[in-house]
Amino acid sequence: MGNKQFKAESKRLLDLMINSIYTNKEIFLRELISNASDAIDKLHYRSLTDKKIKVNKEDLKIRIDIEKESRTLTITDNGCGMTEEELDKNLGTIARSGSFTFKEENEKKKDIDIIGQFGVGFYSSFMVSDLVTVESKSIDSEKAYQWTSKGIDGYSIEACEKEDVGTKITLHIKEDTDEETYSDFLDTYKIQQIIKTYSDYIRYPIQMEVEHRKKKEGTENDYETIKEIETINSMMPIWKKNKKKIKPEEYESFYMDKFHDYEKPLKVIHHHVEGQYNYDSLLYIPSHLPYDYYTKDYEKGLQLYSNGVLIMEKCAELVPDYFGFVKGLVDSEDLSLNISREMLQNDRSLRVISRNLENKMKTELENMLKNEREQYEQFFNIFGTQLKYGTYSDYGNNKEKLQDLLLFYSSTEKKLVTLKEYVGRMKETQKVIYYACGETIDKIDMMPQVEVLKDKGFEILYLTESVDEFVLQVLIRYDEKNFQNVSSDNLDIDTEEEKEELQKANEDNKEMFHTMKEVIHDNVAEIRFTHRLKNHPVCLTSEGAISVEMEKTLNQMPNNQGIKAQTILEINEKHEIAQKLKDLYQDDKEMLKKYTKVLYAQARLIEGLTIENPTEISNLMCEIMTK
Ligand code: ADP
Repeated sequence: MGNKQFKAESKRLLDLMINSIYTNKEIFLRELISNASDAIDKLHYRSLTDKKIKVNKEDLKIRIDIEKESRTLTITDNGCGMTEEELDKNLGTIARSGSFTFKEENEKKKDIDIIGQFGVGFYSSFMVSDLVTVESKSIDSEKAYQWTSKGIDGYSIEACEKEDVGTKITLHIKEDTDEETYSDFLDTYKIQQIIKTYSDYIRYPIQMEVEHRKKKEGTENDYETIKEIETINSMMPIWKKNKKKIKPEEYESFYMDKFHDYEKPLKVIHHHVEGQYNYDSLLYIPSHLPYDYYTKDYEKGLQLYSNGVLIMEKCAELVPDYFGFVKGLVDSEDLSLNISREMLQNDRSLRVISRNLENKMKTELENMLKNEREQYEQFFNIFGTQLKYGTYSDYGNNKEKLQDLLLFYSSTEKKLVTLKEYVGRMKETQKVIYYACGETIDKIDMMPQVEVLKDKGFEILYLTESVDEFVLQVLIRYDEKNFQNVSSDNLDIDTEEEKEELQKANEDNKEMFHTMKEVIHDNVAEIRFTHRLKNHPVCLTSEGAISVEMEKTLNQMPNNQGIKAQTILEINEKHEIAQKLKDLYQDDKEMLKKYTKVLYAQARLIEGLTIENPTEISNLMCEIMTK
């Protein structure tokens, strides 16, 4: 035996299985049953399109047999079967390229992750058995073939006798060891439990012989043991079941198995719809970001079923990009079985269903926000960026749908708040929604521009993600209130009197500012006194559409065109430095210029910008200090 070798990758996977320390070995049965069910699906589907193939739906089933003496467990299906070539191709190599990669050599933890996350199919039978035989007869072949393998050394394929189309897999269960009681997998009750746990929803009966103790007829206390063939699974696809009867664990286990996630979902959304179109939908919000989410490899979409038969693995039309993280399925009796991908796009029922689903997801998120705030914040921390991109992209076409789902950090609440909550708290005198941008909450909180507003009791939204400010620009306003960057030049928080006073101060010192500007004229559009600062001496503000934060973001982009914010150097008119500057203007214009350079460097550093001449600034500071 063993006249054929496994392909290199398969060999490694096999090795991983045989020597697995994975504790959840029982999942091998889920994998084999799932394969059997797929094979029956294929046959069923073929019979719908090929008149020559006759299938009696009632006969389709999966059978499990246990033989304790010979230590064998058998899984038999009457699905499509495999030809000789298919046995070789499907069981000699791994098809699922890309679903996992062997990066780290011999890293047991990684191995366990692979098994846990992906199940890894047929080969998982080698976790519990030392000899596997697959007898199969394909719907497309007259002859039957048998695949046999003891594991790593290879496999053989030879002709065999098999009357019916389908596949019979016989596992020779390993002997017990100190660590592992493999004999459990020869226990009828244990196998029943495993089937109920992992494969209850399989749409074909999974049958096995079960022993019952029954009272003998006509006796009081006399029992007898009867053997009966029983269907173990409920066969009801989970999404067709009554919502009230489904336990959370059932939803979770279905999700983890079907959508290959190793973590429980954050939210389950199960919906049964009757009306213009009838469908069941079962949607899941994952509890973590898929590892490839923000790459081009990530494919959004839901599984699409027509009356219980899977017709598409990933139907992208069913979810808008901004809810692209949602996983799950839709089953509708209104969809034709042999609908093609091209036809789908123009299918009216699908368009209506997709619109309904979108609304459903949105309402569900709104409800979560309203009723389960903590969970929503958890969600937002994972997928909030996606919602922001959704608001911003498509020329803001979806902004109205998404704006109330956005959260931003609030200076007064010290947590994430909605725009609605912000506006609801605005003072009567407050006309705009204030926001400030920076790398972290702490850094923003220390910005000089923020201080005075906080002092006057205004709430400020702290934006820490680069997409944030672009989102606000696309929104333009919320509830008729404009957004105002605290660092923009036209921050209007002074009284009329204060404004006049400031204007006069600026007017009176025009010549001085002119002199100061001579040394930094390339970089700032204007220098002037301000009242927006409380204790800080200087700050940099921007005028026009591009803020300093946006400049930073834009300049990190690959097609950076050197876009610059128009900046203004503002000096606190109430700070001692103001008087010092005025004195220098009278007595020592050269020193005034040096002060200007240092003040400008300070303002840039506070904004998180770099300075071009650190050595010069350092020397200037020392010169000023030692004077
Ligand atoms: P996967 O099921 O993820 O494709 P497996 O390793 O479990 O990976 O199976 C490999 C392939 O072998 C399947 O895709 C299928 O084509 C074939 N196969 C496995 N079991 C059966 C079966 N019982 N009947 C028919 N084909 C099967």
